[in-house]
Amino acid sequence: MASLISHPVVPLALAVAVGRGVISVPLLVVGMVFSMVPDLDGVTFRLGIPYGSPFGHRGFSHSIAVALLLALAAVPFSRALKAAPLAVFCFLTISMVSHGVLDASTNAGHRVAFLWPFSAERMFFDFRPIEASPVSLHRFMSGRGLQVLESELMWVWMPAFASAVVGYCFRRMLRAETREPAR
Ligand SMILES: [Zn+2]
Repeated sequence: MASLISHPVVPLALAVAVGRGVISVPLLVVGMVFSMVPDLDGVTFRLGIPYGSPFGHRGFSHSIAVALLLALAAVPFSRALKAAPLAVFCFLTISMVSHGVLDASTNAGHRVAFLWPFSAERMFFDFRPIEASPVSLHRFMSGRGLQVLESELMWVWMPAFASAVVGYCFRRMLRAETREPAR
């Protein structure tokens, strides 16, 4: 997996790029949680479910279908989330699917079951620059974590920051243009 602190960076960057008018703060918070939810499947280790099973790590919880379903389940709460139903659905879907995208970009671990339940095939991208994070916190803290964070800084945090800045500047530019008096 990518480390748990890097997954929420994607919805955060998207929210900054798109703006609070579309993605409210409560929706952003839920999106950040959604970006981490797939790794709750870590509990399957304790239950003795093998990696290879669709219910093992990086299995069904990392699929696009589950992301769509959970995002859809959140739509009735749009008013509480202070956002439009379509924004809730799209933002939460992207937040959760981004988890699998980062995992499939890691250089170790298991492949991701993006297409479950339609296909049990596990996938990795060809280009996988992110150092896989150890599942155990102990191993993460013992030096390996620094290596992981370095690669995530380079391949997750920096591109996310750049996208957020580009989106933010683009929005400001558009707003300034629409405010300019007609000649
Ligand atoms: Zn994961």
